[in-house]
Amino acid sequence: MKRLAEVLGDWEAVIGLEVHTELTTLETKMFCNCKNTHDDPPNTNVCPVCLGMPGALPVPNRAAIQSIVMAGLATNCQIMRHSMFYRKHYFYPDMAKNFQTTQGPVAFCMHGRLDLEVSGGGAAERPAWEDVAGDGTTAIAREKDGSYVVPIRILRIHMEEDAAKMVHVGGEEGRITAATESLIDYNRCGTPLIELVTEPDLRTPEEARLFMEKLQQTFKTLGISDCSLENGSMRCDGNISLRRRGETRLGTKTEMKNINSFKSLHDALEYEICRQAEVLEEGGIIYQETRHWEPSRRRTVVMRVKETADDYRLFPDPDLAPFDLTDDFIEEAREKIPELPDAKRDRYMRDYGLKQADAAQLAGDPKVATFFEESLAGAPAKAVSTVANVMVNLAPSFDALAPAQVRGIASLLAEDAITFAQAREVLEAVNGTDADPESVVDERGMRQVTDAGALEPIVDEVLARCADQVQQYRDGNKKVVGYLVGQCMKASKGSGNPKLFNKLLAERLGA
Ligand SMILES: [Zn+2]
Repeated sequence: MKRLAEVLGDWEAVIGLEVHTELTTLETKMFCNCKNTHDDPPNTNVCPVCLGMPGALPVPNRAAIQSIVMAGLATNCQIMRHSMFYRKHYFYPDMAKNFQTTQGPVAFCMHGRLDLEVSGGGAAERPAWEDVAGDGTTAIAREKDGSYVVPIRILRIHMEEDAAKMVHVGGEEGRITAATESLIDYNRCGTPLIELVTEPDLRTPEEARLFMEKLQQTFKTLGISDCSLENGSMRCDGNISLRRRGETRLGTKTEMKNINSFKSLHDALEYEICRQAEVLEEGGIIYQETRHWEPSRRRTVVMRVKETADDYRLFPDPDLAPFDLTDDFIEEAREKIPELPDAKRDRYMRDYGLKQADAAQLAGDPKVATFFEESLAGAPAKAVSTVANVMVNLAPSFDALAPAQVRGIASLLAEDAITFAQAREVLEAVNGTDADPESVVDERGMRQVTDAGALEPIVDEVLARCADQVQQYRDGNKKVVGYLVGQCMKASKGSGNPKLFNKLLAERLGA
């Protein structure tokens, strides 16, 4: 098969995503008051409603509807005042009542938008020809470094309920094929679930990955879900079709299932783009089908030919009255929305002078952002950018640091008392303990001499001893200063501050 870059030169990939998110932070299920958790023994959080017993009546969860309205507002959706629940019929053991309660043509949230910032290697995936399409529909403005911002439209976010969890025993990779038994856990049945559907505005696997990442950050920040792709509380299906560049008609799409990581999403789309190109270039046709991503074999395989929407016999649920959301209800949801990642990133750049990539990394995860802000509390002004530097470059290697320890390390770095390499050693020592970085530095005698008066004699001694290197420096070999700093460090038995040695050497050498 051809490589992605080659394929995308000839073909345009048209990608849309459907993202299911369980509202894991709610206490109870969508239409009954069963506990909303999957951690208990199987089939213990169940009742006549979520088991679909005849005559049981559903009662909608107010907090779940507030959560979906928050999700809609945070993704620039229009909140629909009037909507209703529908029954989507199917027969499968994971839903005992034989229909899923979901929404019809009008969802609580319609027509939103998320802006994606695409940079680095990912930006190169979108071929340059897109910029010169000329008709203004596909053109995206690029920065000098190739990065760009692309708006991704959201068609809708609707409210529904999750099905029971099925475990297939004995089959390969937990699939039903070749399984000897299938087990059902109805604890998950009736879990509040929101489904977000994008317009087919994504053009590269990297854009799809970034969209999911941004959505995850947004929903986590809202506090409506733990958004775990690994545990399945956030699940993503991708639709993909190809068309020759310049063509406006959409090709036949396939749907990708079983995507449980950002990497799988990227790799499955990349594979599918290349597979479809190969079929089309050999004169074959693409069938509308659902395909399953096999990470271990790095390929997609056919799961089933897609059923049409009519098969579900969708109609309004007679047990649930239509909704009319009031302005007060919507305002209450709006007031609950905390500062979102983009706004936080911009504030970090503005207030702390951070670089965009660092600010985005710190602002993306609400836990990281809170930790960062706690680390800043009481930090000396000159240590603020160092706190960010430690958080971005060092802290991710350690899982049990306290904000005060990060603040302590940053202060030591900011006053040049230790080097960056030593900071790593100190963090390793304090990780998971309540030790204070300052005492660790003192106990280990790591504190750097930052008094120029004490270091000058060492610099003079080294310069006198290394006449050859000094001559090389004067002849234009500026790199030799690294060797001289090394000699100074050695002469000071590692206690001198390398930055200061550098500065003193530069002064002496007349740089
Ligand atoms: Zn129940």
